[in-house]
Amino acid sequence: MKLNKTFRTISQILFLAIFVFLLIIGKNMLWMALFAIGVLVSIFFGRFYCGWVCQMGTLLRGMSYIKKKLRIPQIKTPGFFKQKWLRFVFFALFLGFIILMQKNGLQLFAVLIITGLSIVVSLFFHESLWHNVFCPYGSLLSLTSRFAFLKVKINEEKCISCGKCERVCPSETILIKENKKRQIDTIDCLICGKCMEACPIKVIDYKK
Ligand code: SF4
Ligand code: SF4
Repeated sequence: MKLNKTFRTISQILFLAIFVFLLIIGKNMLWMALFAIGVLVSIFFGRFYCGWVCQMGTLLRGMSYIKKKLRIPQIKTPGFFKQKWLRFVFFALFLGFIILMQKNGLQLFAVLIITGLSIVVSLFFHESLWHNVFCPYGSLLSLTSRFAFLKVKINEEKCISCGKCERVCPSETILIKENKKRQIDTIDCLICGKCMEACPIKVIDYKK
């Protein structure tokens, strides 16, 4: 199954508008209902929430574009951040922060702080640092999406090892095997479909 870029863009803009609307009317906690649906969907279909719904993901997509246009040099993400357990430390910190802000009626301030942090991170580092380490929603969905029966997969037999897919992957989740063929670590796949578009011989598919 192919993932349509136009549909994804429309979906992201629509959900961003919903998020801003909820924020303006002071009902931003309703967004959590959408996130709960995203968790349920991820169990069967992977991290659609990240690639198609999340307001932060949409913001980061825009930031990547701006960064490219302004030619802002990218700082190499320190190897330490590749530790898989680290995301759960940030998840715990995020929970503590949100509870504290809720208790003090500072929800809006919390949203601004988290949004600002995501902008700074994505402006100077590869955006995967946000998706795979700092983002609390991503951390939770990396657990639930393990069970998904539909995943983005590469037909390794046909792959010509050109590397075009990994260069566009926003979550740097395309691995190089010993034989140079590419393989997707699906727990961090955002189902964005960018690798499918980039692959010159179309051997990447969203399937069982
Ligand atoms: S593996 Fe493909 S679909 Fe998944 S996040 Fe990377 S580019 Fe997007
Ligand atoms: S873009 Fe396609 S052919 Fe090239 S490495 Fe990725 S999967 Fe293989």
